[in-house]
Amino acid sequence: MTTPSDSVLPAAHTSDKAAPWPAYVKASLAWHAGAGLFAIAAPASWPWALAAVAANHAALTAGGLWPRSRWLGSNWTRLPAHAAARREIAITIDDGPDPAVTPAVLDLLDAHSAKATFFCIGAEARAHPALCREIVRRGHSVQNHSDGHSHRFSMLGPKAMTREIAGAQASLADITGEAPRFFRAPAGLRNPFLAPVLQRLDLQLVSWTRRGFDTVRREPTDVLARLARNLAAGDILVAHDGNAARADDGSAVLLAVLPGLLARARSLGLVAVTLPAASLHQRGEDAAAPAEAAASASP
Ligand SMILES: [Zn+2]
Repeated sequence: MTTPSDSVLPAAHTSDKAAPWPAYVKASLAWHAGAGLFAIAAPASWPWALAAVAANHAALTAGGLWPRSRWLGSNWTRLPAHAAARREIAITIDDGPDPAVTPAVLDLLDAHSAKATFFCIGAEARAHPALCREIVRRGHSVQNHSDGHSHRFSMLGPKAMTREIAGAQASLADITGEAPRFFRAPAGLRNPFLAPVLQRLDLQLVSWTRRGFDTVRREPTDVLARLARNLAAGDILVAHDGNAARADDGSAVLLAVLPGLLARARSLGLVAVTLPAASLHQRGEDAAAPAEAAASASP
């Protein structure tokens, strides 16, 4: 089995309208055909053929329910090697924008000179377009986290999945003036239909290296420990401004977590950048800072 390269290709590379299926899915189709021929050639063996197909379906389902798997197509679980070499990390913030949380998140990021990627829900962006534009104005990136964040997303067929993703894509591009290049599935869950849809829309799937579970964990020290464990260049971290659990003082957990996380990153010589910035092979004018950090830190 081959796995598509997930760490060397820039996002939104040249679109291939043929949208080939991932190797694992093609192998599964061949497996189905083989099982069918086997059952025809040796009718008494049909229970075995059926079992073979059922086992394959279980494996495909497992691949979709394991957010970091690459069985179902290209999936960034870490930044590309050139970004890691620059000591970059990506902090991704999901499920917003949320007017009760996002402005404070932006202020904290500014205070630490850090950039982040906001995986916004299309419907939330339409409800708060000015806030969505403010994210971009402050130097951060808005990317696609589906239109409605349906909990049934991983059970959708190709048409409904296309509607969910293309709907958010149109809204976010219209509101911010920039078409997203990255997609994150709701809860990271997906099925074999997703990869061809993303390829048609020129979107790169992104999951994560580590997540804080801050939609359910209310204790900031617990969330920080999860995000900062073995923190290293190239990591992609997930936290939430929308749907965030509330700490004891009623504020979103992320607000208590961010200062400690950004301080830890800085102490390790890591630079928090957006996903589009991390996808660039050259940093251009601001290349000096990451290069110096890389020179002074061990890999
Ligand atoms: Zn989400």
